[in-house]
Amino acid sequence: MNHDSPSLHARHQAVLPSWLALYYERPLELTHGEGRHVWDAEGNRYLDFFGGILTTMTAHALPEVTKAVSEQAGRIIHTSTLYLSRPMVELAERIATLSGIPDARVFFTTSGTEANDTAILLATAHRRSNQILAMRNSYHGRSFSTVGVTGNSSWSPTSLSPFQTLYVHGGVRTRGPYAGLSDGEYIAACVADLEDMLQQTAGGVAALIAEPVQGVGGFTAPPDGLYAAFREVLDRHGILWISDEVQTGWGRTGDHFWGWQAHAENGPPDLLTFAKGIGNGMSVGGVVGRAEVINSLSANSISTFGGSPVTMAAGLANLSYLLEHDLQGNARRVGGLLIERLRAVAAGLDVVREVRGRGLMIGVDLVRPGTDEPWPEAAALVLEAARERGLLIGKGGQTGATLRIAPPLSLTVAEAEEGAGLLAEALQVAQGQLV
Ligand code: PLP
Repeated sequence: MNHDSPSLHARHQAVLPSWLALYYERPLELTHGEGRHVWDAEGNRYLDFFGGILTTMTAHALPEVTKAVSEQAGRIIHTSTLYLSRPMVELAERIATLSGIPDARVFFTTSGTEANDTAILLATAHRRSNQILAMRNSYHGRSFSTVGVTGNSSWSPTSLSPFQTLYVHGGVRTRGPYAGLSDGEYIAACVADLEDMLQQTAGGVAALIAEPVQGVGGFTAPPDGLYAAFREVLDRHGILWISDEVQTGWGRTGDHFWGWQAHAENGPPDLLTFAKGIGNGMSVGGVVGRAEVINSLSANSISTFGGSPVTMAAGLANLSYLLEHDLQGNARRVGGLLIERLRAVAAGLDVVREVRGRGLMIGVDLVRPGTDEPWPEAAALVLEAARERGLLIGKGGQTGATLRIAPPLSLTVAEAEEGAGLLAEALQVAQGQLV
């Protein structure tokens, strides 16, 4: 028995900000991981159905990544972008090719926030405008500009922003005025909303930033083709499309390597931002985009830690493993099976309104039984009950009533079935306690 965790919690509360979200009444201190499992300071083992926070893309403690990181750290940890760096050039080459963007350039950052911040900076520099379109219920980060374009009100605590943001519909689909529409009708309604928004501007919008599948927003995907339809309108106005792939990149959605590929008819985005999974937990983020846009900064710029050799070595080893083992295909197959299992579980439970997902990005909406009202308290209880059974999951959505499931992409069929069973028990316990 380890008695350190409560005091670590108290020390955490005393020194870290009140808004730094912590899961669980008795927060977990994780000490190590292997494959799809992690262990806490008390020696308990958990199946990690949240992949860190979609950061452990391949597996915990993947030997290939550990080896690449320690070998690079043994040579040199940091040099800065003032010098040539082989691992940075190599990873940039691979990402440029994978992006699907012709003549692409890559700039590395240390987080998703900074990647989006940079993309917004580049788009506004390129278009000489500070108006941005974003989606309702979106999440893009924590900085001044990214909070400014975040539509999810529980993550957008300030309306102070250097940008004028206009929020377009296309995120939440199953509630409100857009519920019950067919895919075609839904896309037409969203395009009409976009056209309306553009009428309100003086023609100076720089870019639309959007997550192909909203992550923090509850793993909600619009119908395929929405962004292709948006693209047609944007192109007419010369507005750039920034695809925020911080959660959806690298094959997580199963059918596609990038989320934008479900909306590909009118070509790739102008800028694509990435982070989270590429470093398997090492802080790698970045923006890849058309040379003409990426090169629009007229002043010099630098990132002290972006592209740091140790993180680039992690990214290269992780990406190689992902591609060589076809983890995108695994996400499609095992994710499909997991969604099926969870739908079967949900059929017997009033508290579950919907199980939806793409690949290994699965959302489970909880409602007060017999109503359409989101039930965040139930989600909190399910998280606790799942933890007691050795399963870690995430939550999100506009009100926190969506369970979020995003395991490492190497999840096995046996682990998917085990996790579905544990989640079924946790859902039953929570429903029993609340109803
Ligand atoms: N964009 C999306 C879609 C995200 O989900 C997140 C983080 O959850 C971010 C940006 C911000 O990334 P970071 O937390 O690495 O700054």
